[in-house]
Amino acid sequence: MKRRGDIDVVVVGGGLAGVTAARDCAKNGHATLLLEARDRLGGRAWTSQFEDEPIEFGGTWVYNCQPFIWTEIERYGLEIEETPGAVPDQMILLANDERTVLSGEQLGEAVAGWMQYTADVRGIVPRPYDLMHNTEAALAADSMSALDHLNSLSLSPLAHAFCEGIVELVASGTADSVSYLDILRFYMLGGSEFSNFMDSAARFKLKLGTIGLVERIASDVDFDIRMNAAVSAIEDRGDHVRVKTNDGQTFRASAVVGTLPMNVIADVHFKPELPDAVRTAAQERHPGKGGKFFLKVDGQIGNVATVAPGRPLNYTMTFTQSARSTLLVAFSSDMDLVDHYDHETLQTELGVHLPGARLLSSTFHDWNADPHAKGTWATYRPGWARTVLPAAQQQSGRIHFASGDHGEGWRGTMDGAIGAGVRAAQAVRNQLG
Ligand SMILES: Cc1cc2nc3c(=O)[nH]c(=O)nc-3n(C[C@H](O)[C@H](O)[C@H](O)COP(=O)(O)OP(=O)(O)OC[C@H]3O[C@@H](n4cnc5c(N)ncnc54)[C@H](O)[C@@H]3O)c2cc1C
Repeated sequence: MKRRGDIDVVVVGGGLAGVTAARDCAKNGHATLLLEARDRLGGRAWTSQFEDEPIEFGGTWVYNCQPFIWTEIERYGLEIEETPGAVPDQMILLANDERTVLSGEQLGEAVAGWMQYTADVRGIVPRPYDLMHNTEAALAADSMSALDHLNSLSLSPLAHAFCEGIVELVASGTADSVSYLDILRFYMLGGSEFSNFMDSAARFKLKLGTIGLVERIASDVDFDIRMNAAVSAIEDRGDHVRVKTNDGQTFRASAVVGTLPMNVIADVHFKPELPDAVRTAAQERHPGKGGKFFLKVDGQIGNVATVAPGRPLNYTMTFTQSARSTLLVAFSSDMDLVDHYDHETLQTELGVHLPGARLLSSTFHDWNADPHAKGTWATYRPGWARTVLPAAQQQSGRIHFASGDHGEGWRGTMDGAIGAGVRAAQAVRNQLG
C-alpha cells in the first residue's frame, strides 16, 4: 500500500532529459523527486552572462524540424531569435596554408564537395529514428569514421577541407573520431540539404535562453527537487529501487529515471551492473571533446564565419554585434590543440582567423573537466551504433535510462534529451500504471 510521503519515481539528473521526465511523471500522477548534483538545473544547457550579454555555455540552437523541443517551444510560447553569423556576409576557409573567402565559384566548389560527401544519405539513413532500417548500408557507414569516407573520395583540397571543417563543427570532435553514420544522421534530420542543415546546427536560439525553457518545464507541475545531491548508487531490488547520494542520503522509489550523461554514467554504482558496452564507452568517452568560447572583439568586425579544420579553433562566427564590439562564438573540436586557455593563446588564434581583430576579453566553460559531464555533446565513434546504442537503450527492470546521449533521432542535442525524457516517463507509466 502506498504511504504518505512515498516516492513513486526518482529522476537522477536535472538537465533537459531529467526535468522533462520529472514533469511528465508528475503529470501522470506519480510522486516525483529529482536529484541534481549541481546547484542549478539545465545540465549541459546553461544560460549565463558575459559582461552584461546573455550567453549559452552549452546547448544553444534549436530548429523547427526538432519535434520534441519545438513542441515545448510552442507549448510555452517561447520566442526565437537569429544568430547573425549563421548567414554570414563573409565565410572564410583557413586550410592548406591558404585563406579563401568562400563566395561564388569557391563556395560552389565547397558545397558541391559536401553534396558528394553525403550523396548516399537517403539510402543509408532514410529513417533517422530507426537508424538501422537499411541495416547493411547503415552498418557499413557505422564501421567507418567520417574521415575514412572523406579520404575515399577524390575531392579538391578546398572541398576536402571544407567538409572536414563542417564534420568537426557537427561532432565537437575530430573527423577520425566520429562515425560517418552519425554525420549522415544529423544531415538527414537537418533536411538533407546544406542550407537547412547549417540552419539546424547554429541559427535559431531561444530569446529567453535555454534557462527560460528549463524553468518553464520544471515549474509546470509540482515535483520535488534537491540540488547538490550527487547520486552515488542506484540499486534495483526487484520490488523497489534504492538510490544513494554521496552525502549518505537514501531514497526508495518504485522506479528510477537515470539521465546521467554517457561519459559519467559509470561513476555511479548500478545494481544490476551496466552493460559492458556502456561502461567501456563511458571510459573511452564519446568524441565530443571540444570547446566553445565567447570572444569579445574590439569594434565592428562584421558578420563573419570562419571554417578552419585541424586548427585550435575550428569554427568561429558572429554571435552579436554592437557599436563598440563584436561577440564571436568560437569552437574547438579538440581541446588538446588549445595549449592554454588564456588571452594570449586566443588572441594569436583569432589573428589567424581574422587578421587585425583585437581580443578584448573571453569566457569559456571546460565541459571536458566538468565532473558531471566529462564532455560536450555526444556523437558516436565508429561501431557504436551497432554496439553501444542498443545496450544503452535497454531498460533494466525498474531503472529507465533517458539521456540525450542515447536516444534515437536528434541524439546529442537538447531535442534528443527532451525526447528521451518524454519516452522514459511514458515507460514508467506503462510500468507503474
Ligand atoms: C558546448 C555545448 C554546445 C552545445 N550546443 C548545442 C546546441 O546548440 N543545440 C542543441 O540542441 N544541443 C547542443 N548541445 C547538446 C545539449 O546541450 C545536450 O545534448 C543536452 O543538453 C543533454 O541533456 P541531458 O539532460 O541528456 O544531459 P545533461 O544536460 O548533461 O543533464 C544531466 C544532468 O545530470 C546531472 N548529473 C550528473 N551526474 C550526476 C549524479 N551522479 N547525480 C545527480 N545528477 C548528476 C548533471 O549535473 C546534469 O544536470 C551542446 C552541448 C554543449 C556541451
